[in-house]
Amino acid sequence: MRRVALVAHDAMKNAMVQWARDNHSSLALLDLCATGTTGERIQQGAGLALTRLLSGPLGGDAQLGAMIAEGRLDALIFFIDPLSALPHDVDVKSLLRLAILYNTPLAVNRVSADAVLAALNV
Ligand code: PGA
Repeated sequence: MRRVALVAHDAMKNAMVQWARDNHSSLALLDLCATGTTGERIQQGAGLALTRLLSGPLGGDAQLGAMIAEGRLDALIFFIDPLSALPHDVDVKSLLRLAILYNTPLAVNRVSADAVLAALNV
């Protein structure tokens, strides 16, 4: 089963929950994980089972980076807030850098998330 991570910054969490609801049947076939607060919102709002990591700013982004480096993540759906500066910007950059380095399928908005999900053939 493919493992896919879901992360959304605060301003993007509603969009992530809506996307998860709209793609529930496909996402339910994946081994999902998410940063802490994003995961809680998806569990409650979309009714999907997933593994919750630490909150992103408290190490969840770093946990996902480690999973990528260890070859344990098949795709990253990361709804980044394009309008706010974030205190954990260094973690965001690190996670994106590792996803690029390891050629991990990466989506940063709804259209690219649709494309990555379609490419997973679920
Ligand atoms: P969160 O982390 O899901 O715990 O809010 C996301 C992030 O800001 O990286």
